[in-house]
Formats: sequence, C-alpha cells, structure tokens
Amino acid sequence: MIATKCYRFRLKPDKEQEAQFLRFAGCRRFVWNYGLARKQEVYKTTGKGIGYNALAAELVALKKQPETSFLKECHSQVLQQTLMDLDKAFTAFFEKRARFPRFKTRKRSLPAFRIAQNVSITEGKVSVPKVGQVKGRLHRPMEGTIKGATVKQEAGGHWYIVFVSHLELPDVAPTCEAHVGIDVGLTSFLTLDNGEKVEPPRFYRRAERKLKRLQRRLSRCQKTSRNRTRAKLRVAKHHRRTANQRNDFLHKLSAKLVADHDTLCIEDLNLKGLVKTKLAKSFNDAALGSFFQMLTYKAAYRFGQVVKVGRFYPSSKTCHDCGHVQHLELSDREWMCTGCGVIHDRDTNAAKNILSEGLRLSNNVAAGISETKNADEGNVRLATASGSR
Ligand SMILES: [Zn+2]
Repeated sequence: MIATKCYRFRLKPDKEQEAQFLRFAGCRRFVWNYGLARKQEVYKTTGKGIGYNALAAELVALKKQPETSFLKECHSQVLQQTLMDLDKAFTAFFEKRARFPRFKTRKRSLPAFRIAQNVSITEGKVSVPKVGQVKGRLHRPMEGTIKGATVKQEAGGHWYIVFVSHLELPDVAPTCEAHVGIDVGLTSFLTLDNGEKVEPPRFYRRAERKLKRLQRRLSRCQKTSRNRTRAKLRVAKHHRRTANQRNDFLHKLSAKLVADHDTLCIEDLNLKGLVKTKLAKSFNDAALGSFFQMLTYKAAYRFGQVVKVGRFYPSSKTCHDCGHVQHLELSDREWMCTGCGVIHDRDTNAAKNILSEGLRLSNNVAAGISETKNADEGNVRLATASGSR
C-alpha cells in the first residue's frame, strides 16, 4: 500500500528569494488565468475543450513573445504544473466535487506555486530551482519519496513549503488487540468507552472572544485606510494562530489514541452536527473533520485501522448492558435503563456501543461475512467480551 504524507515547514526566504517567490506566484496566476480564458474561448467557438498538451504548446509560444517573455524567469515546471492543476480543477468541476474554476486575482488568491520535481532538502536548507537555497525551520525528518511541493504565503505574511511524500507500507492485517470506542462531541470533544472524556481545549473560548473583538475593529475601519489593512492582517494572524493551536491539539490527541490502540471505532460524522452546545459546536465543526483524517492516516502508518460505525446506528439510546433501546431527550446526560436498571453516562454508553458495533463490523470484514448475517449474535458476544474487560 502506498500512503501519502505531507510535511509542512516554515520558510524564511531572504528579500531576493521572496521577490522570486512572488514572481513565480505571479506567473502561476498569469498562466492559470490565460489557460482558463483560453478554455472558455475555445469552448465558445468550437464547442470543444482544449487540454493540457495544446495549452502547454501555447505556453512555449508565449515565452517567445516580448510582452509575455517574463514567463521565462519562472521555472518551467511551475508553469506546466499550473496547467495540470487547471485541468484537475475542471475535472473536479465536471465530477461535481468543486465549483467552476475562477480567475485568480492578487486580492483574492494568496501567492502560491507548485513544483513537481527538483525540490529537495540539502544541508538544512530547502533547495528550490531558480531560487536557490532557502532557509527554513525543518523541524522533523521526512520519510518516503518526495513527489512535489507547494510553496505558499499565508495571510499573516509567513511563507511555508508543503512537501508531498509517498510511503510504501507493507500489507499487514490490523489486529483487534487494543481497541477503543470513540463517541464524538455532544458536550465533550470526545468520550472513550472507558469513560475518559476529552474537552475542547481551553484556549478556544478566549480565542473566539478575541476574534470577535478584532473583527469588530476591522469593520469600523475606513474602507481604504491603512488602519484597515493593519486590522485585516491582525485578523488573519489570529486565525492562523488559532488554527495552529487547534491542529497541535488534534495532532497530539490523534497520535496518542493511535499509539495506544490498533482498532479505533468511531461514529461516522455529521450525526450530531445540529445539537452541540455553542462552544463545543464552533470548535468541533472546525476540528472533527481534520481529527478524523488524522486518525485515519496515522492509524494506517502503524498498521492499525479506523472502523466507521454507520450514522444510523442508535449508539446513544441502546443500553450497552442489556441491549434495551429507549427514547432519550437531547438534554439527558445520564439515564437509567428501564430494561435492567443500570444508570448510564450518555456519551460513555454510546462509546461502548460504538466499540462493539465497530468490532462486529471489522470481524465480519475479516471473516468475509456479509453485513447482516448473525448481527445480533455477534453483537452480544462482543458486547460481553468488551464489557468484562
Ligand atoms: Zn439495560
């Protein structure tokens, strides 16, 4: 199996290198807009599309014309990559995964460019063709084969490089020795089947308050004033900082869960999207998707597995001890089972059910049993097994 891994490093280009980065990004913007305009024009006149090869040929011609000869200053791969990315954007549009590609403007699109080859790390610096050796904070070693890189400037003004690397992983069947059931955020961010709860990090409430204040200040500024530019930068920096804190929290949490468990059973997302408390909601909305992704790819590196439990499985209102299903109000944080009299913490009970359902599903997959067969029997057996842990 080949796994894709991304590495993001902060870059510290000097004045000249930064100017070159911006030039590359400008050329990318130009080629993107040129290609997009040509595609629309050709479609209008002939009813047909124009693909990468034809546009790449036009690109060669453009470089020879005096008014567009500035393209020669840019590394040719950056330009070709732009056309490939444009094709990808159209494919995504036709497959209804994205909206119609838009023209890039200096205002709307942050400076960025992609290079497929010849970007490498040598002697603690990032070597970018036609730019040179760029200083960076290379805070961790990379594994696998580098498949390309994106250089971009974020709204706060900092430059980053993201390497995409391919890792060859041996085919090892995941085991179910150390397993965990995870219930995602109703009031807590996560609840594990052993009753452990993970709260949304404390910084978040403070960060939200500050964001509101900064945005209020921004909205009071005159449209084209220097204060407005400054206020805008402050908002962008604050967003970046909050996102960094959030990702740090999620990376550490997912790494810990994956290190301790080889089978992680988690509910398919979106189920509870509407019923969270305000704070939990704002944090969880931004965090759950990435958390899920992190969990999945980190588990794969360690030959573990993440089992998704269908969102229509009644994990909350089924009693884990006796299987009795009863109606619960959203406000019921604790409830007593009318079948067996056990008092449940809502989320812990749900996590336990997610675990047994997840183990049942993964055992069925391993044994090649179809989804519905012996469902009840499997459920009870596994429920007892995990209940006696
Ligand atoms: Zn019960």
